[in-house]
Amino acid sequence: MARRRVVIAIDGPAGSGKSTLAALLARKFGYTNIETGAMYRALALKAIENGSSLDDAATLGALAHESHIELEPHAEGNRVLLDGRDVTRRIRQQDITDAASRVSIHPPVREWMVRKQQEIGAAGGIVMEGRDIGTKVFPDAEVKIFLDAAPEVRGSRRFLQNAAVASQPASVVAELRARDERDRTRANSPLVPAQDAVLVDSTNLTLEQVMEQAVQIVEQKLAKAGT
Ligand code: C5P
Repeated sequence: MARRRVVIAIDGPAGSGKSTLAALLARKFGYTNIETGAMYRALALKAIENGSSLDDAATLGALAHESHIELEPHAEGNRVLLDGRDVTRRIRQQDITDAASRVSIHPPVREWMVRKQQEIGAAGGIVMEGRDIGTKVFPDAEVKIFLDAAPEVRGSRRFLQNAAVASQPASVVAELRARDERDRTRANSPLVPAQDAVLVDSTNLTLEQVMEQAVQIVEQKLAKAGT
């Protein structure tokens, strides 16, 4: 009998390795990989291009409603379309990284994002990564992993990833800390592990070791769920 296709939720701070893990898990289980951060980034880009204030919740909520943000899953990550335009590379630049974490604090923006993400994942067979997937988007997800790592390690991973455009590692770590602080302390859906999430600290682990642990967690949860 075919196994039921469930939701695998992966949450954690920036640079913890969520995107890489999500892509590998999706490939292993034949699931679709969704990077929810890319949706906040796309909206942030639209806000900047429109000259909207990043502090104006109502305007940003309205902007979200009139936006068409699509994620096209590929083995190496998501291709991101904003109103039909490919913004995959643009949204990885630093100004958008900062702006995404600012637009994401506003409740009207989060409500729109959560609803879209629930629609995307409704049929299951999905690995969804972000900050609030296990707590808000899919609180009943069969598998929840909270991936963390020490800030210095996350900073250097981000630095290598962005080597071509990077500033100094110290400033990357400072930027990560500032973004973490904002993500963890915001009033609406702060970054916290769901009560039933399994914590994985990747500080001293190789990618292979993280993947090994994650696959074990998924297999155990699937067995428990009787799938
Ligand atoms: O994961 P990524 O770094 O692309 O996310 C960019 C920003 O979007 C995060 O710093 C966070 O503020 C926001 N975000 C969020 N909820 C999610 C995914 C991302 O608030 N589920």
